[in-house]
Amino acid sequence: MTMKYQSEFRQPEAIRKVLGRIHERCSRPWTIMEVCGGQTHTIARYAIETLLPDAITLIHGPGCPVCVTPLAMIERARILALEPGVILCTFGDMMRVPGQGGDLFEARARGADVRIVTSSLDAVAIARQNPQCDVVLFAVGFETTAPTTAMAVKQAAALSLSNFSLLAAHVRVPPAMSLILSSPENRVDAFLAAGHVCTVAGVEEYPDIAERFSVPVIITGFEPLDILLGIEGAVRQLESGVANVENRYARSVFADGNPLARAAVSEVFEVVDQHWRGIGIVPAGGLKIREAFGTFDAQQRYDCDPGDVSEPRACMAAKVLQGLVKPAQCPEFGRGCTPEHPLGAPMVSTEGACAAYYRYRSTEIVRLAHD
Ligand code: SF4
Repeated sequence: MTMKYQSEFRQPEAIRKVLGRIHERCSRPWTIMEVCGGQTHTIARYAIETLLPDAITLIHGPGCPVCVTPLAMIERARILALEPGVILCTFGDMMRVPGQGGDLFEARARGADVRIVTSSLDAVAIARQNPQCDVVLFAVGFETTAPTTAMAVKQAAALSLSNFSLLAAHVRVPPAMSLILSSPENRVDAFLAAGHVCTVAGVEEYPDIAERFSVPVIITGFEPLDILLGIEGAVRQLESGVANVENRYARSVFADGNPLARAAVSEVFEVVDQHWRGIGIVPAGGLKIREAFGTFDAQQRYDCDPGDVSEPRACMAAKVLQGLVKPAQCPEFGRGCTPEHPLGAPMVSTEGACAAYYRYRSTEIVRLAHD
């Protein structure tokens, strides 16, 4: 069965029309960053950059939550997984992210009980089924996944579960966009904001970004036509010398997002400065469990400090995540670093830019990035 809103946004005729308008309107070089890893995959899969005027450069942002999860947090998860009596639950993508002492599959091979869950709420069910064990949920993600993690904590509290805790590394996207724009190395003329983040969190943080940095912010979806509509909106604003927030994903995004999801997140988490891997400390860029739910904070419950950790030298993920280089410009791309043997998180995650380029490496976009 064809999913509603999928085939409509892949129709060649509609795509040709929008492309025509982009070519007509574009008169100067512009650099546009898509924020979300899902958008990066669409751009790579459909070789969208090759359809655009030469003057438009697409660069890929830090929109892969697995990629920006700090190495220290991955090490904490590994330490907790190896604690006797602990069941560590996490999402599939986190299993293969290399930590300093190996990944979570290796921890499992050493006897750790590590389980892949598809929802944070699954970890609560595992805690109920295993009262003799301590269940730790290693939860990462943007505004999109934070609500289910918040619901898991609320459910554990309602059930008075004493064997459930949370190692959380949830991050917030708009502050990272501000940080990228503040950098002296910034190349971004316009943003395609992540549609699914806005579906949950709303759009209220974007007008300030657009105004402060004079950068158009186009809220964009994930199908090929969505991406082109986002680029068209960006080019139209840039060529007119204006910088506004524009919602080109109106079939999903409402101004105030999902109020119930936002309320759950606010109840359980507070906004804090947070370290993003490859980017550094992002002011107001993360979520920390509130003191009222402190008994569910794994970092308060266990001694899991990994000490000093250092990034693998060969990996250029920091530059990739800020859009300063494209994945195929990394000397290790496809050589020392592949999805089977990743050196960095962007090659592991299904949302990682390096994984997208590798998966669709036969397309023109990768050849162009090498030139
Ligand atoms: S290709 Fe591999 S080594 Fe290079 S930046 Fe990407 S993840 Fe890091």
